[in-house]
Amino acid sequence: MYLIAANWKMHKNARQVDDFFRRFKPNPKVEIVIFPPSVFLERAAKHKIQIGSQNIHYEKEGPFTGETSLGMVKDFCSYILIGHSERRKFNDETDKIVNKKLHLVLKNNKKAILCVGESLAIRKKGRTKSFVLSQLRKGLEGISSPKNLNIAYEPIWAIGTGVNATPEHAQEVHSWIAHFMTKKFGKNTIRILYGGSVTPDNARSLLQKPDIKGLLVGGASLDPKSFSKICHSI
Ligand code: PEP
Repeated sequence: MYLIAANWKMHKNARQVDDFFRRFKPNPKVEIVIFPPSVFLERAAKHKIQIGSQNIHYEKEGPFTGETSLGMVKDFCSYILIGHSERRKFNDETDKIVNKKLHLVLKNNKKAILCVGESLAIRKKGRTKSFVLSQLRKGLEGISSPKNLNIAYEPIWAIGTGVNATPEHAQEVHSWIAHFMTKKFGKNTIRILYGGSVTPDNARSLLQKPDIKGLLVGGASLDPKSFSKICHSI
């Protein structure tokens, strides 16, 4: 089944969260998960739609002011987003930290979406393949089973810019990732999502590519009408 995820980042207040769920029309033919800001996880979960956490700390508990543990969110969330490029950039998340988080999530039988993707500078140097595969290799170190694992390919130059990767570019990178996964885990059953300026207008052409098994949507997921359209584009 295709997976369509909504990453709300640091958007919406309580009233807007409820309003979204009142107007959103899910598609039973696809799996949908919404990642609201952490303070609204419990509120969002009451709307009976699958919820995920945009982040967790890699430690179970401790003196980490402002952080959120897996134990705090696990009753509301089935998914955890790991290694989003904004966390890598603004919160100095290294591949090592990403790897620690992934171990914690999978050990606790939660589902993970591990994000990878290159910057424009790396793309211009023609190093997309080696960079993305290196992020995967490091992020997945010590992970022996693909159970509950999903990958999101999110080229940084496409996130929030209005410039989506062409379906052909996305498919090419997805095929490298799929090949890497098959080599690492044997039969590849892992879903690889595309993320980066997805809209109701480009969702269908992206989803028609053979290795694109879902979407991670930022900006266009904030509006219930546009996110409903994306979920119904399959
Ligand atoms: C994202 O936040 O993961 C994302 C892809 O954002 P946008 O859709 O706004 O580019």
